Amino acid sequence: MENYDVIIVGGGPAGLTAGIYAGRQNLKTLILDKGLAGGQAREVPVIDNYPGFSMANGLELIENTKSQTQKYATIHEFEEVLDVFNENKSFIVKTSKGEYTSKVIILTTGSKHRQLNVTGENQHLGRGISYCATCDGMFFKGKDILVVGGGNTAAIDALYLSDLGCNVTLVHRRDQLRCQKYLEDKLKESKIPIIWNTTVEAIEGDPLVDNVKLLNKDGTESEISVNGVFIAVGDIPQNLIAEKLNLKLDDDGSILCDKYQRTSLEGVYAAGDVTGGLKQWIVACGEGAVAAISAYDDIIKNS
Ligand code: NAP
Repeated sequence: MENYDVIIVGGGPAGLTAGIYAGRQNLKTLILDKGLAGGQAREVPVIDNYPGFSMANGLELIENTKSQTQKYATIHEFEEVLDVFNENKSFIVKTSKGEYTSKVIILTTGSKHRQLNVTGENQHLGRGISYCATCDGMFFKGKDILVVGGGNTAAIDALYLSDLGCNVTLVHRRDQLRCQKYLEDKLKESKIPIIWNTTVEAIEGDPLVDNVKLLNKDGTESEISVNGVFIAVGDIPQNLIAEKLNLKLDDDGSILCDKYQRTSLEGVYAAGDVTGGLKQWIVACGEGAVAAISAYDDIIKNS
């Protein structure tokens, strides 16, 4: 069994940054990701609020971060963490490929796309339904698209898809958007039509999406003919390992941490989207750095 000082579960912005900070402090560090490092960060079409980059692309930024991290930490991709437990003041990490020990654990498991849970959603995944505009937008050039949601992601996706040449309509369940003002202004400028106070009831088509049933708050039912539906209704924390470790979670299932990113269990830290709060790239990086520094302090204190 290979022994590490720090094992980081999840290789998004928070995990990779924690890896840089831990490795640079001479801690033997392993980052495990069940897929490709980067996770949801790979899907972000445009980041225009990351200091030093006026227009960054998520995939490029994460690939650069990954190369930088590899100087200081080992990254194992496509290796899923199945269980973590405490034994003799260290942790045993069981994965899909092996077993490791570590002095501390940093959980940066991120979040996953929330589903609408409506008829036809699962059935049409990859057949006209997508949760990732950057990944799938190009297949819908010149096509009619419905974007669902009123947050930053929905606004950014709607603008991105419209720029790609899709004929975009946005549908939102309230009469006010949740996204930032500048995005709302851009949506107005772009003249993307918004269907207000309306939810998606069913997504239809055989085998490809061609129709969506809608329901207005006033009870009016309607339909819209579209070739694609991009669902951007938020995220839910991926907290399976946190639950296995019996960590304290908040009502949404996000991991509760103190300002040093320490969780309710000694030796376990958490950072990034799995901790809830502001889901921003820079916040995830900041939390990842803090988690690694706290881990280093605690390892030194206990050695
Ligand atoms: P979000 O801010 O949670 O917004 C989700 C949107 O989906 C809300 O408008 C919500 O409606 C709607 N919604 C939720 N469940 C729904 C359902 N079942 N049916 C219909 N609509 C539903 O999620 P997000 O846009 O993915 O953003 C996640 C986080 O990342 C946020 O903190 C956001 O600020 C951040 N983010 C930041 C940037 C940036 O700064 N550039 C970019 C992307 C995301 P209500 O408004 O009625 O609740």
